[in-house]
Amino acid sequence: MAKHLINSIYRATEGEGVFVGRPQIFVRYQGCNIGCLNCDSKDTWDFSPESAQDLESVLAQVHTEGFNGAIKNVSITGGDPLHPSHVPHVLSLVKALKEKGYYLNLEAAGTRVVDEIFDLVDYISFDFKTPSTGVKTPLKNISKMIAQYPGKFQVKSVIADNRDFTATLEAFKTLEAEGHGMPFPWVLTPCYNTEEEFPMERFVSVMKWNEENGGLFRVIGQQHKWIFGPDKKQV
Ligand code: SF4
Repeated sequence: MAKHLINSIYRATEGEGVFVGRPQIFVRYQGCNIGCLNCDSKDTWDFSPESAQDLESVLAQVHTEGFNGAIKNVSITGGDPLHPSHVPHVLSLVKALKEKGYYLNLEAAGTRVVDEIFDLVDYISFDFKTPSTGVKTPLKNISKMIAQYPGKFQVKSVIADNRDFTATLEAFKTLEAEGHGMPFPWVLTPCYNTEEEFPMERFVSVMKWNEENGGLFRVIGQQHKWIFGPDKKQV
């Protein structure tokens, strides 16, 4: 039987991006080899076989955590749920949850567009990796999202400093010059590192840079970190 490597399945109120404030069930896959320098989920990196679960177990937990099916929003996240070793399992989960009437959001790292999964989910949160992450999102991936999934995705950029903001602005302008404009929400997430006090100064700077450059983006913080602190998991 196919095994899903699962870090955790839990209910929480979405803390970031365009769905902030919406209760949902998170299915967090275990295993990621992308290696963002400022990753706040390093516990999800190992592809640990002891985290394996079968599909029926995952579905049962989604049902239970959602007050026996009352909550119908699910966010599939990680780790990297689009790592090739996860893809067949995520695909089977997506198909099963869609059959049960769930609304599915997928958290995508921005390094891969996986049509077979993207075609079936309801929404995709697609990362544009900034310089502070040490990872690059090929702009052609966002162009592909615009062409194939209009109205079905947001782009999210973690902003640690002005270099990150400038790189995001340049990416926007490159896409605009290609004729893409901004037919999707592009969210700036001011970085809030583990073991850090609330970064008020960084947050205010990100809002100011955005205002000074035409207000092209939506600045949305990670409210779960304000409420529970930056180190608390499963919130
Ligand atoms: S893709 Fe996500 S889980 Fe993987 S290293 Fe980057 S932030 Fe961490």
